[in-house]
Order: sequence, then C-alpha cells, then structure tokens
Amino acid sequence: MSRLAGDLHYAHPRTRASAWAIEWGLPGCEVPREHVIEWTCSCRTIRYELIAGAGAMWIRRFEGDQVLETHRTAAALIRELWADLLDGDAA
Ligand SMILES: [Zn+2]
Repeated sequence: MSRLAGDLHYAHPRTRASAWAIEWGLPGCEVPREHVIEWTCSCRTIRYELIAGAGAMWIRRFEGDQVLETHRTAAALIRELWADLLDGDAA
C-alpha cells in the first residue's frame, strides 16, 4: 500500500455550531496574476482558497459545482477572516 496517494492532507477547517456566517457572493471577474496563497483540504465537501490579486485578497468557497467568494478587500481583513474560518469561528 502506498502512503503517497491517500495520506496527503491540507488544512481542515474546524466546525463549530457558534460560527458566524460569512457573506458569500458570486465570484467577481478574474484578475491578472491572481494567485492562491493557501487552501484547505480537498477531502472535505466544502473547500476554500485564500486568493490574492489586483492589490486585494479574498476567499473562494467550493462546494460541488458551486463557487462563491467573499468581498475583495484589504489583505489584513481577509487574513483575519481566513484565520476565523480555519478555527471554526466563521463559516
Ligand atoms: Zn483532508
């Protein structure tokens, strides 16, 4: 049995009933040199990407075929939100 194929996991956001709800909207337009900074594990039904581009940052949420995004805003705010998401304080 190979350990390579199945054992590679990335961050798993915690789940808490008390999490406040992030306001998700439809994805904005693609920007040049948009890049993914961090991401959560694809073993979960819902996965997230932390994205930077055009002087802003935002989080993208994937669930099946549905793609949603947060507002695109200042890096510091989105990094705080990303930390809340991973800790289960926001969802
Ligand atoms: Zn995983």
